[in-house]
Amino acid sequence: MPISVNKETCIGCGTCVSLCPSGFKLNDDGKSEPITQENLECAKQAEDSCPVKAIIVS
Ligand code: SF4
Repeated sequence: MPISVNKETCIGCGTCVSLCPSGFKLNDDGKSEPITQENLECAKQAEDSCPVKAIIVS
């Protein structure tokens, strides 16, 4: 899976959801999770902007 979020690291700041609402959502635990494996470009923007580097786009 090329887009993943480390839920242990994510602090639920919502930056990735703001930058890429078609790619991420906050789950019931307040942690981000990918909702699609498409739209890699905005996922990469979110990866670059995550303050704790919880997003991995490979
Ligand atoms: S930007 Fe990073 S820390 Fe913030 S919600 Fe997204 S994955 Fe979590």
